Amino acid sequence: MEQASGEHRYDLAIIGSGGAAFAAAIAASRKDRRVVMVERDRIGGTCVNTGCVPSKALLAAAQARHVARDARFPGIATNAGPVDPAALLAGKQALVDQLQADKYIDLAAAYGWEVVAGQARFTHDPADGDGPALRVDQLDGGTRRIQAAHYLVATGSAPLAPPIPGLEEVGYLTSTTAMELPELPGSLLVVGGNAVGLEQAQLFARLGTSVAVVELLDRLAPLEEPEAGAAIAGVFADEGISVHIGAQLTRVARDGEGGVVAVLRRRAGRTQELRAERLLVATGRWPVTDGLNLDAVGVKLGERGQILVDEQLCTHNPRIWAAGDVTGAPQFVYVAAAHGTLVADNALDQAGRTLDYRHLPRVIFTSPQLAAVGLTDAQAAQHGIACTCRVLPLAHVPRALVDRDTRGLVKIVAERPSGRVLGVTMVADGAGDAILAAVYAVRLGMTIGELADTWAPYLTLGEGLKLAAQTFTRDITELSCCAA
Ligand SMILES: Cc1cc2nc3c(=O)[nH]c(=O)nc-3n(C[C@H](O)[C@H](O)[C@H](O)COP(=O)(O)OP(=O)(O)OC[C@H]3O[C@@H](n4cnc5c(N)ncnc54)[C@H](O)[C@@H]3O)c2cc1C
Repeated sequence: MEQASGEHRYDLAIIGSGGAAFAAAIAASRKDRRVVMVERDRIGGTCVNTGCVPSKALLAAAQARHVARDARFPGIATNAGPVDPAALLAGKQALVDQLQADKYIDLAAAYGWEVVAGQARFTHDPADGDGPALRVDQLDGGTRRIQAAHYLVATGSAPLAPPIPGLEEVGYLTSTTAMELPELPGSLLVVGGNAVGLEQAQLFARLGTSVAVVELLDRLAPLEEPEAGAAIAGVFADEGISVHIGAQLTRVARDGEGGVVAVLRRRAGRTQELRAERLLVATGRWPVTDGLNLDAVGVKLGERGQILVDEQLCTHNPRIWAAGDVTGAPQFVYVAAAHGTLVADNALDQAGRTLDYRHLPRVIFTSPQLAAVGLTDAQAAQHGIACTCRVLPLAHVPRALVDRDTRGLVKIVAERPSGRVLGVTMVADGAGDAILAAVYAVRLGMTIGELADTWAPYLTLGEGLKLAAQTFTRDITELSCCAA
């Protein structure tokens, strides 16, 4: 028989305290509903503690060093000294702590919802006739039972390592532990050429580590346009990062010098050995549902471990909802936050809201950034949509010319014959900002003609979008530098 104390009744009980959880708690509090939040680790979840904020803070620092070492402009001498990892780490942690306090801890206090430090799981005693409840093993000891009209599971995702022989014995870094290393490794093998792997690879390379990236599929950023992956591979080559695509990691072992030796198998069956001081596994993140006892309350999981939800984010139990990474949705904090708000509306006010992901932007924060929205060329074909596309190399974008860095491109996929913009991909410094114009274009159903005809400020990356749209009707060489 379960011993629990402190029975409470809430409108919404939330497991987790990340982007999804906070957005739900804020929305519910604004509706004057009683909210309780349970968190077993640091308040704020992945984004602020181990994800977006620390990674972008370190990437910004590494970018500053890279620019200082890159004597790209005639007449400007630049140089960069050695990296002080302890100071770099302390600076990153200070920013994380500051944002965690400002954007999460203080905000929860200002709204006044209750935060319980502990590990939550569902219980359901059919005899009490009251539906699901939470049992929380509190971090400071004791357990607590929480009852609510609705529950939100916002438990996020965690790094997933593939079952490679030797991996567990040898040990490996994840993005979380890599960004906490007190010393920079001399060499690093990054397994996985998608967002997290690419960002971590460039981060360490720019701090002075010798980096190699291994990707199973036949290009970097394999979910994006092939031209984009090729552009990033070119940048990595320029920066001395070795890239092994179409290569499967089959075995890892310790080498005689305390490092790691990794065996790769190429498509043709050829094998190759790579050695590095440390191994970083960035092969994806898996929904966190361990110990939640979801079976007991009728919540079902999908093949990828994700909580199955309907379009309104309700699980198979009408009183239990799920939001953010744990649902298997695209892993972005703005998706998690939109989910959280939606759950508050649907669970507490029966709003019946759903989300439209067709204009969801995706950004990989390498430098240059890879930013995209909508369908890729291949996805449009898979959907059976007749389309046409153009790729504008950045060498035709004046901003890139004056910046003396023309590595990158703008690609537009348009429906035929309407000309409606279906998708845009940009590889360029600042692409993450400039893609917003393309988000509007896709959302509003603009055509390439309208994009080509819309004002764009000269000497901005945004102008690249207009110029790319113009290539549908003009030869690239005919583009005027003012994109008239
Ligand atoms: C290195 C990295 C960089 C990233 N960069 C970006 C970026 O630049 N932009 C972007 O949009 N996204 C980025 N992301 C993705 C983004 O961080 C996630 O999509 C987002 O944070 C997910 O939010 P969430 O609310 O679903 O879950 P989380 O923020 O992961 O929160 C889940 C919380 O639930 C808690 N929890 C789990 N189980 C229990 C339990 N049983 N009881 C109590 N608490 C529990 C966990 O401790 C955790 O705090 C990045 C991710 C990583 C790893």
